[in-house]
Amino acid sequence: MNIILLGPPGAGKGTQAQRLVDRHGMRQLSTGDMLRGAIKAGTPVGLEAKAVMERGELVSDAIVSALIGDELDAMGPDTGAIFDGYPRTAAQADSLDELLAARGRKLDHVIELEVDEDALVERIVGRFTCATCGKGYHDRFDPPKVEGTCDKCGGHEFKRRPDDNEETVRTRMAEYRAKTAPILPGYEARGLVARVDGMADIEAVSAAIEAIVAP
Ligand code: ADP
Ligand code: AMP
Repeated sequence: MNIILLGPPGAGKGTQAQRLVDRHGMRQLSTGDMLRGAIKAGTPVGLEAKAVMERGELVSDAIVSALIGDELDAMGPDTGAIFDGYPRTAAQADSLDELLAARGRKLDHVIELEVDEDALVERIVGRFTCATCGKGYHDRFDPPKVEGTCDKCGGHEFKRRPDDNEETVRTRMAEYRAKTAPILPGYEARGLVARVDGMADIEAVSAAIEAIVAP
């Protein structure tokens, strides 16, 4: 199964992707994570992406589509893919179709997380992850069960993203509205779109997604 999780920054894509990985052994393909990895590793892609990401703008289509192609090649053919934060433009949506077709894969669902924009800033400024295993948390909505200890790996170090500040979030939302939301009608015409209330609590959103991917 190949699915896209679509929604503005802070909609809950990463949170739900991690849950799908745990439940179904699917693979999360987050271009944001790949780009942050490239920045950390100091690769040419990372060097090119860093300033763009700090501004909250979009990295070039060619770079992110190449990253996705490489990840798909590194996966077993039977492992399902969850696209998280990709595609974000019409050109990326076209590339994804080609990348999937070339590997004998097809898109099963585009799950749109519908959220109220006013809630997103609070979600994003409260977001943090475990520095060891990457599990995502939120100061208020999803804190670790024991403060200061990761539920998943027991780690004690956490980190926050440099672009998770109010100013950058506004740019990221504007990018979403201008360049990403317009790809939805194309998927709708293909009968692929399922909508989920992303304002519900995390468990309820998971249950709604579960009903789509494993009815
Ligand atoms: P995205 O990957 O779409 O940018 P995340 O999954 O990282 O969004 O979620 C952003 C923040 O909001 C995280 O801190 C996460 O814990 C929290 N969050 C995710 N889903 C919900 C939800 N349904 N209700 C409240 N908070 C949520
Ligand atoms: P995310 O982790 O999905 O919130 O992405 C963080 C940042 O990485 C975005 O604000 C963009 O600068 C960049 N980025 C991630 N995915 C893409 C993509 N598919 N296309 C262009 N830029 C991306």
